[in-house]
Amino acid sequence: MRTPAPAPAPSPAAAPAAPAAPPAADRPARGLAGLHRDEVEARVVALGQPRYRAQQILAWVHRRRARTYEGLSDLPAGLRRRLAAEVPLLATTVKAAQDAGDGTRKLLLALPDGDAVEAVLIPEADRRTLCVSTQVGCPVGCIFCASGLGGLVRNLAPDEIVEQVLHAESLLPPAEKLTNLVVMGMGEPFLNYAALIRALEILEADWGVGLGSNRITVSTVGVLDKVARFAAEPVATNLALSLHAPNDVVRRRLLPRFAAVTIAQVIAAAADYRTRTGKDVTFEYVLLAGENCAPEHAEELADRVGGLGCKVNLIPWNGVSGIDLKTPTERDVRRFEEILERRGVPTTCRRRRGDDIAAACGQLRLRHLDR
Ligand code: SAH
Ligand code: SF4
Repeated sequence: MRTPAPAPAPSPAAAPAAPAAPPAADRPARGLAGLHRDEVEARVVALGQPRYRAQQILAWVHRRRARTYEGLSDLPAGLRRRLAAEVPLLATTVKAAQDAGDGTRKLLLALPDGDAVEAVLIPEADRRTLCVSTQVGCPVGCIFCASGLGGLVRNLAPDEIVEQVLHAESLLPPAEKLTNLVVMGMGEPFLNYAALIRALEILEADWGVGLGSNRITVSTVGVLDKVARFAAEPVATNLALSLHAPNDVVRRRLLPRFAAVTIAQVIAAAADYRTRTGKDVTFEYVLLAGENCAPEHAEELADRVGGLGCKVNLIPWNGVSGIDLKTPTERDVRRFEEILERRGVPTTCRRRRGDDIAAACGQLRLRHLDR
């Protein structure tokens, strides 16, 4: 059985734990899906082909669901062969795809070095939302989270982030596209900042996947220097800040390695991000029985975040094997929600989905590792 990693001494906000691997963006992107338009153009031109071939290739990969060079049917065979010798079209492959009864589908992708990463497709009414990962494991080690159990294995490269979207779109009927993207899977996106930005550039570009920035939400535990930097990026998206507590005593217990970042700092960063970008800002709050979901916690939370114009998203904890915490009762969840609503705090509650395929972040990978 896995047990949570021991918590080291608190460290500064921007670096809760030293990454074990060099940032992915420092390595060359290994799949063509992780390249910018100019980089694809440079490769095509170097092979003696006209520049417009790059646009054709990118349309095939990002819009027309080509997953192999053979699929690029209107490109000269010689160009396809030479490109294939230089760079794989995709660096990842689908290792497992599992359906939950409620329509949620979980993808486990095999990475080139043999590890695995997961993405979850959540269809709801007219939305098709994908949840993507940014790291294998996570260095932050929140005590309730499966992703942090084994620490950080490595950062994902930009192609490995983009390809989660491409593989998920391949699961949809031809006329359907993803409508929303949430960066809420394994890992802390702002501890893999450069790769995140490059992936967003490709996902948002009109020459790339073409997802609008208002359709994307990045979730962070509160890496505040990066929150401020992200606000100034052309690719800035909606933001979710994982708060989980109404005061620092509770937050430090749940996020022992992030003790240096206070609730007041997180809330100030949220308000600043909202003012500077005009994007939606949400506070994520995982509800854990006996830890943070008593009525007085709800009242205190309303005191702190009321009037900011930010929504609170409640997430009843999804059980993780090896973690000795408890999911709250439905009654406790409803009571917490009602207090926030009575206090005028816009509140949503993410009822559990995909339980039978372990849809909480990091769990499917753990299940495969345990085999
Ligand atoms: N590292 C980022 C993004 C990934 S986690 C962050 O922490 O925000 C995305 C969300 O899933 C976070 O709000 C996190 O608290 C929540 N989460 C993680 N494990 C969970 C579990 N077992 N049950 C319910 N929510 C969980
Ligand atoms: Fe990392 Fe987010 Fe999980 Fe915390 S909740 S361990 S920051 S992935």
